Formats: sequence, structure tokens, C-alpha cells
Amino acid sequence: MNILTFDIEEWYIEKVLHGGREFKLRQYDEAFSKLLDELDRLNIKATFFCVGRLAAEFPQVVKTIAERGHEVGCHSNEHTWLTKMDEGTIRHDTAEAVKALQDVCGQSVTAYRAPAFSITERNKWALEVLTECGIESDSSIFPAARDFGGYPTFPQDTPCIIRHGGASLKEYPIGMTNIFGKKIAYSGGGYFRLLPYGLVTKTMGNRDYNICYFHLNDLIDQRIKMKSRQEYEEYFNEPGTLKNRLTRYIKSNIGTGDGYAKLVRLMGDVRFVSLREANGTIEWDKVNTIEL
Ligand SMILES: [Zn+2]
Repeated sequence: MNILTFDIEEWYIEKVLHGGREFKLRQYDEAFSKLLDELDRLNIKATFFCVGRLAAEFPQVVKTIAERGHEVGCHSNEHTWLTKMDEGTIRHDTAEAVKALQDVCGQSVTAYRAPAFSITERNKWALEVLTECGIESDSSIFPAARDFGGYPTFPQDTPCIIRHGGASLKEYPIGMTNIFGKKIAYSGGGYFRLLPYGLVTKTMGNRDYNICYFHLNDLIDQRIKMKSRQEYEEYFNEPGTLKNRLTRYIKSNIGTGDGYAKLVRLMGDVRFVSLREANGTIEWDKVNTIEL
């Protein structure tokens, strides 16, 4: 089973950080519509995790996703890492996002992905808060070390049921592979852009479960300008040293030139489904239950 997901926040982040520059918004519009046309052409349905603020500020994006037959999931309200919010704030953030997205798309929104996979060993209680807000499926667990998130001690990288407190959730962790003895992701973001196509498809072919994840920025041929110290500190909420800013800059730009072409090729070679479709085919009574 291969699941295709996108995390969608670009228009909103552009507005917050830069006031919504015309040429950037147009670039996102174009990449988005090209992607939707390609999905139609290949008859693929995907899950689009959207930030709640998009529903308020760029509702046509959320509406279009639903109208084209895709699943709308929740990617927090304002793209704030969950590691930076306390329990009450996460509850408020999620409830607001789910409501705003549902009102605009007309679907019930029950799938969630945290920005930057920011559910970790330390804030795993957040999963229980998500269920209180109507979330039934989650794809926020990145079972390896990672900037701003990651859950290296999570015991598996295939679908499972997570139990925490009184809550129970269907979890779709990100798949991992071993390269030179190091556990790394292969099916999305910078890893997908960086790794040779043949290695990605070979890894996917050897597994029964893969979940691919992209932001529009992964698929646009662009040079993202290095953030100023002030922009960096506002966005990442950590010191905007030259080293930190340079690391993010390199990670954001590596391989973006052919990201889209690579994804289109993959969509032609591999049969993809949305999370909603996967939910219906997984035998949930046969998967592991993990008590956190
Ligand atoms: Zn995101």
C-alpha cells in the first residue's frame, strides 16, 4: 500500500512572512493546479493536510482540494510546531483548524499531521488531545531523529493503533530505511529530493507500506532566499545564527529543481491511495496496538 499525502500551508506562510507577494502566490497557484491536473490524469486520490488558516484566508485552496475528490486533513491551525504549544493551546488550535476546514470543504476532517512531525516522546500526550478534537487518524510520527520533531524510540514504521490515556488513534508513521547503518526517511521532503529515483522505488517496492509526503515547496523549482535573522527567529522560534540559517537554507533548496518531475514519474510507476482509502483497506484488528 502506497499512500500519497501533501502538507499545505504555503499561501498562508507567504502572507504571514512576506505580506503575500503576488509572484509567490501565483507560483503556488500554478504548482497546485498543475499537481491537481496530474492527479486527475492518473486517477489518484490523495490526502491534503491543510493548515486551518488557509480555510479563512485562501478558502479556494481548501475548497478545490475537496471538489477534486481528495481528502482534506488538518495540518494544525497556523503551522506552529506542537512542541511549542501547551495542552490548552493545542486543543484550541486543533479545534479551530478542524472547524474552519470542515466549514469550507464540507467533509468531516478526521486525519491529522503535525507541522514538522512535531509529536515526540516528550509531548506524546498531544495525541490524546487530538482525539478530543475529532481526529481519528494521525501521520505525525517520524520514527527517527529529526530537527524540530521526530520520535526515534517509536517501535515501528508501519500502521498501528496508538493508545494513550483513554484515547485510541490509527497511526500512519513515516517509513524508514537503513542507509549506511543510519535510519532515514526515503519517501518525502528533502530525502525524496536527494535520493536517487531508483533507490526510492526499490525501497518502496521492498515494503508493504509506504507513505509519501510533500509540501508544494518540495515541488517548485526555486531558490528560497536565506531567511534574515529576524524572519528566522519569528518562524522557527530559535536563535537565528548563521549556522542555523544556512542549514535550513541548504535543506530547503536541495534537489527542488527536479522534485516535481520525480514525483510525476513516481505517480506513474506506483499505485497510490489517500489515507481515507487506506483506512478502509487496512485490517485494523490485525495491526499492533502500541501503548504510549
Ligand atoms: Zn508543513
